[in-house]
Amino acid sequence: MITDVFCKIIKGELPADKVYEDKDYFVVKDIAPQAPVHLLIIPKKHFEALHDFKNSDAELLGKALLVAEKVAKKMGIHDKGYRLIINEGVHGGKLVPHLHIHLLGGKRLGAKLVKQDI
Ligand SMILES: [Zn+2]
Repeated sequence: MITDVFCKIIKGELPADKVYEDKDYFVVKDIAPQAPVHLLIIPKKHFEALHDFKNSDAELLGKALLVAEKVAKKMGIHDKGYRLIINEGVHGGKLVPHLHIHLLGGKRLGAKLVKQDI
């Protein structure tokens, strides 16, 4: 049984601060924001990672980028730009085993993607 936090939000078992929702995706604010605007674009269908997507899911996966554009406009950060990140696996720093795309913006982001501690 799949019990990650995003599936619990989809089932209504956990509250979430949704800023966008359609039949395939929802978007919430990250609980530990790394930028003035830090959102998570989450498919409602459970995919653990990119490796779970099949060719038949390509349209659904591509739609995530259209959702990113819509949400960036809605949040007023579209004109100055934003960054999208997918963290995969241990080296990628993935925390929730349900594919999601980070959308960060609201300030000029640094050249580095994350703080380096080495
Ligand atoms: Zn899930």
